[in-house]
Amino acid sequence: MSSLALSSAQQQQVRVGLGRVLIVEDEELIRETTGLALAEEGFEVVVAEDGLAALDILGGTLNPARKPAQDISLVILDLMLPGMNGLDLCRLVRHQGMDIPILILSAKGTETDRVVGLEVGADDYLAKPFGMRELVARCRALLRRHRGVSIQEPDPVLRFQDITLNPKECRVFLKDEEINLSPKEFRILELFMSQPRRVWSRDQIIDKVWGHDFMGDNKTVDVHIRWIREKLEADPSKPQYLKTVRGFGYRLG
Ligand code: CA
Repeated sequence: MSSLALSSAQQQQVRVGLGRVLIVEDEELIRETTGLALAEEGFEVVVAEDGLAALDILGGTLNPARKPAQDISLVILDLMLPGMNGLDLCRLVRHQGMDIPILILSAKGTETDRVVGLEVGADDYLAKPFGMRELVARCRALLRRHRGVSIQEPDPVLRFQDITLNPKECRVFLKDEEINLSPKEFRILELFMSQPRRVWSRDQIIDKVWGHDFMGDNKTVDVHIRWIREKLEADPSKPQYLKTVRGFGYRLG
């Protein structure tokens, strides 16, 4: 067992959580090319040359030393392996209740093999020779299905007309231009963008942005709205985004 060396750019991607893939394959060339293709896509790659080594990594009970299982997100499993073959390993992994996606690889591209592979608990099957792009696509699809969410979940960015607000990065853009807001201005705009066209009273804005321990008066809101308008509006005296709703408060749009 060994880990492939990853470039720093690849490690960067690993940190955003594509997952760690275990490749179980006795043929070195296939092991290496498959590993590199997945590493280039941002997966972290762990390899095993036979079934017992794979079981060891997965923390199976055939291993008396019982090392703790590595956090493996997906197994790519060759069928013809020395020692324990791929089908037996797959069966054992499922028997032990490990709920991990398994993609079987085999030179035997027959229907029987595919069916047996799926029957012993594999999730997908790819016949050799296969293209790396297909392999990567299958891995992504398996992980997506397994996690029930996209593996590259987009940030929840808020948009209203030309304004884009990214809550995680605390950044606001008007078209392509970044707008620098103070933390309070940012929170006010975020509140408006979370529910466009909803009218917010000054007290509601204070409650949401400053909280209950706010000690000033609600003219503070007007001052902040003016500052936001100065940064955001083409003509702050005739706002097209943050509009005054006389007698009630403010609304976006
Ligand atoms: Ca093999």
